[in-house]
Amino acid sequence: MKIGVIGTGYVGLVTGTCLAELGNSVVCADIDSEKIWKLNGGIIPIYEPGLEDLVKRNRKEGRLFFVSSIKNCVEDSEIIFICVGTPQGKNGVADLSYVESAAVSIAESMNGYKIIVTKSTIPVGSTHRIKKIMTSRIGNKCEFDVVSNPEFLREGEAVNDFMIPDRIVIGADNEKSRKIMENLYGGISRTNRQILFTDIRSSEMIKYASNSMLACRISFMNELSRLCEKVGADVKEVSKGIGLDNRIGPRFLQAGAGYGGSCFGKDVRALINTMGENSVECSILDAVDKVNLFQRKLVFEKIKSLLGSISGKKVAVWGLSFKPKTDDMRDAPSIDIIRSLQLMGAKITAFDPVAVENSRKILLNVEYAEDMYSALDGSDALVVITEWNEFRNPDFSRMKSLMKSPNIVDARNIYSPIDMAKEGFNYIGIGRGIK
Ligand code: NAD
Repeated sequence: MKIGVIGTGYVGLVTGTCLAELGNSVVCADIDSEKIWKLNGGIIPIYEPGLEDLVKRNRKEGRLFFVSSIKNCVEDSEIIFICVGTPQGKNGVADLSYVESAAVSIAESMNGYKIIVTKSTIPVGSTHRIKKIMTSRIGNKCEFDVVSNPEFLREGEAVNDFMIPDRIVIGADNEKSRKIMENLYGGISRTNRQILFTDIRSSEMIKYASNSMLACRISFMNELSRLCEKVGADVKEVSKGIGLDNRIGPRFLQAGAGYGGSCFGKDVRALINTMGENSVECSILDAVDKVNLFQRKLVFEKIKSLLGSISGKKVAVWGLSFKPKTDDMRDAPSIDIIRSLQLMGAKITAFDPVAVENSRKILLNVEYAEDMYSALDGSDALVVITEWNEFRNPDFSRMKSLMKSPNIVDARNIYSPIDMAKEGFNYIGIGRGIK
């Protein structure tokens, strides 16, 4: 099939590349000409494991193209995916300006029947709104259908998540578009993965409900972790214990610095907003958001409790991206934690395996270390903010010899409080009330 993808960010680039890998002919367009220039020069603008090889192979085999012209992308395609950003706008409302502008560009280039698929996360009702915007431009000139097909990939696992998804959700309002989408995803659904066909509004809701449910689990565990500290329980044990219940399952139950990234925060707030617009009282999600933001303050308080005065102290930070295996710094807890420390006069030396380039654009006056150990040189404390695998089994005696004082705040609970005490560290995790 001939596919067009508008927006070549984390979602668009993965979607386009994986659809090319399935044998389709894919043209990806982006208004960011530097991105397109890089992609055409073989440079992948994001860090996503496994993606580079796939892009190379599919470009070489003539199935994957990158263009700056939306017109070329649209004219050549039967199905067009909108994968542009929907960042948080004023008061938590989803900013749909990129999606709407993409819809206008598509409308201006229509040259026959096409399916316009909204893959960007957009509030319920938005796909119908896109249809209206397009119809007002096109009139009766061309027929088209709109379909909602939200994306559930996780950065760091995106290629696998796209190719072997838990489920594919397709919101369509007629048989013709449903059949075409079924054919498109045929290669993936052959692996017995379920395609859920539903109406457009439910499909849009499923995306927000999924992210909000996951955010809810994390905030629940974070709130519980505060109680664990007071009563001498270990939140890691509690999380293991409840996760063994089949009705609950083990995932997204880790207490820590809270969730971040380009999706959970903004999607929770957008859903809160949609509830408000529809006069539905929203108590749970308000609390989820509040608990999450407070968790970042708690990490700061823990560092303060180890250091006493923060002014003039050197704090080493391990991990900057909002989670491991990505370079994405959007809404990363590290940003708030580092800024609070800087505000109190701390000097920050940070290390992250892949996010430094993005971090430099956001966090000023931070010294970036070449490797995890040199970040520790002369430090008064270490705070682990992102649980990259390489931080899990470090050389503790080397760490101690480099640090001025052996203070560690483990904001992802990757170490054992008992082992750390044996190693001679002043250690604080999250919700680890055990002595
Ligand atoms: P991103 O910011 O990485 O990429 C968006 C891209 O769209 C950018 O390259 C931008 O230049 C381009 N763009 C903006 N307006 C355009 C236009 N009019 N025409 C062409 N290109 C345009 O965003 P992302 O992380 O890929 O997210 C995209 C959407 O997918 C969002 O709605 C997000 O909520 C959703 N989503 C993201 C993830 C994730 O893990 N990142 C997962 C699931 C869903």
